[in-house]
Amino acid sequence: MANRAYNFNAGPAALPLEVLERAQKQFVEFENSGMSLMEMSHRGAVYEKVHFEAVALLRELMGIPHNYKVLFIQGGASTQFAMVPMNLIKSGKAPAYIATGSWATKAIQEAKMFGDITIAASTEADQYRRVPAINELQYSEDTSYLHLTSNETIEGTQWREYPDTGSVPLIGDLSSDILCRPIDVSQFAVIYAGAQKNLGPSGVTIVIIREDLIGQPDLPVPTMLRYSTHAKADSLYNTPPTFAVYMMNETLKWLKEQGGAAAMEQRNREKARLLYEVIDGSSGFYRGFAEPGSRSIMNVTFRLGSEELDKKFVKESEAEGFVGLKGHRSVGGMRASIYNAVPVESVRALVNFMKDFQSRNG
Ligand SMILES: *Cc1c(COP(=O)(O)O)cnc(C)c1O
Repeated sequence: MANRAYNFNAGPAALPLEVLERAQKQFVEFENSGMSLMEMSHRGAVYEKVHFEAVALLRELMGIPHNYKVLFIQGGASTQFAMVPMNLIKSGKAPAYIATGSWATKAIQEAKMFGDITIAASTEADQYRRVPAINELQYSEDTSYLHLTSNETIEGTQWREYPDTGSVPLIGDLSSDILCRPIDVSQFAVIYAGAQKNLGPSGVTIVIIREDLIGQPDLPVPTMLRYSTHAKADSLYNTPPTFAVYMMNETLKWLKEQGGAAAMEQRNREKARLLYEVIDGSSGFYRGFAEPGSRSIMNVTFRLGSEELDKKFVKESEAEGFVGLKGHRSVGGMRASIYNAVPVESVRALVNFMKDFQSRNG
């Protein structure tokens, strides 16, 4: 069997070994078709089966209601930062954004290209160590929509529960926590997520959109950037990233075999608990970045007492086979990304390393 690293990469991130091995078997010849899936038309029956199986699995695993469309789009979640305002801003109704960290800030910057926006809440004054409480949010009932970032991948914070926005469309960037736990999709008007953290490789972005929001945008929007283009064509308007969709489909099958979103949540909570327990039990040797009430079960961020010690930790962890623990440059310190496909064994190994490192350096 492959010699697998303890992979804590933030994205692209670990994929299930079973998925990689299945894909390897089908890589050169896909289901007796005489060719690889990558070599065939996206209009043929063989690819279409994969495509629509992925849509159906996502619907099943997330419990997506019938009045929502599932779209596969390219350009990453970063393109959604622009597509959301382009398609959903209603003239004269500034959209509202919640500023929770690095990714929310990028979404905000992009939205500002299309007009005024309002900030419903910001935790910048707390260095984005927390998400706001629901009763801190302030937005007009007349706003085009309210945008939130479900999990701030860089700071390591995550919403516990989402605000009930009534008739205001709630838009969620779930790039780094989609399917990490069961959610009620009907709370959202739009959910978007790049696949490369929790659902597969990079190259495909999932958009789940309530049908009544797919119409003629008030702003002029190029064909490829209109939700209606992709919705009308079942995400086959132009060539989709066929291999990425195939890999996502295999990852979704794996997720279902594992017991779905509820089983994932249990496993993710256990992995997160193991790490936060070491941090909290280290008498200050390890310092969690996120406030305990906002801690993410996907990205665990922490620092040591000095930058020198941070560097030493990264260096020694790498020598022991741990990959991806260096935090994002904007926050510093360490980040362990423990997405769905990261096995609990990797986390146990990290816990042992952390305890050992403390005993040698504490
Ligand atoms: C990674 C990430 C993005 C950016 O995704 P791309 O697919 O690289 O554009 C956006 N939002 C969040 C929360 C992310 O984690």
